[in-house]
Amino acid sequence: MKIFYSDEFLKYREAGHPEAPERLRAVVEYLKRKGIGQFEEPESCAEDLILLGHSPDLIAMVKSEQFFDPDTPCLPNIYHFAALACGAGVQAMEAALADGVSFSLARPPGHHAGRKTLGGFCYLNNMAVAALQARQLGKKVAVLDLDGHHGNGTEEILRGKEGLIYLSLHQVPAYPGTGLYSFENCYNFPLPPGTTGDKYLTALKKALEVIDKFSPEIIGVSLGLDTHEQDPLLALCLKDPDYKKIGLNLAQLNKPVFVIFEGGYHPQTIGHAFYCFWKGLTEKKVEKHD
Ligand SMILES: [Zn+2]
Repeated sequence: MKIFYSDEFLKYREAGHPEAPERLRAVVEYLKRKGIGQFEEPESCAEDLILLGHSPDLIAMVKSEQFFDPDTPCLPNIYHFAALACGAGVQAMEAALADGVSFSLARPPGHHAGRKTLGGFCYLNNMAVAALQARQLGKKVAVLDLDGHHGNGTEEILRGKEGLIYLSLHQVPAYPGTGLYSFENCYNFPLPPGTTGDKYLTALKKALEVIDKFSPEIIGVSLGLDTHEQDPLLALCLKDPDYKKIGLNLAQLNKPVFVIFEGGYHPQTIGHAFYCFWKGLTEKKVEKHD
């Protein structure tokens, strides 16, 4: 099972910003300690693939470092990091088609970046680009966004696209204020602050029924661990065992799955939470091959 990761992803930071290298390092070190996965160095995403999801103007803006967004700092070489994260997502998608399950452990995250807009700590939409590349390969794709925030960027880019559905479970009210309703090929499951594991899993099962009916050839999961009860940015109340149940439920669909890391801002807990999800998702696969 391949995990696309580079130490490059730890090399940028904005002082005091919650989207800090420590969060990714926490997950990577935890998985390495457990001896999990085959870590692969990703390659930067080619611009023609990034153009599947983004306008030339957005790419030029990130490249030239000429923008201002209060949440999404304009940092030196940020295009380099964003394009590398995007490449990790695309390569994880390709690896899942070959091997069944794969992961992209990268930053910056992507699901708030729209076709022409950056925002919410995101510059390029790693998941949307990977999903659109899977479509180019002729695959039917479902994108399940399990970050605690609504993936407004992914929804905007994938909305109305044939052979593709987008589903999101997220806290409402919260940033970015979207994801209250379902429409076209987009299915939203808003959850109130204080939502615990059992209610979350009930919503997840509804989302998985939609995916099962759609019958995709590959599933992309935007995994944010800001749904955890310890997360400082949101008020959802998932506990570690809930992540294992989420992984198990996903595995039951019996489809290739690639997982792209999004948010999660409590470095002390996200390593173990990620591991629990991994266990749930892969245990079933292991049993199946026995
Ligand atoms: Zn989030």
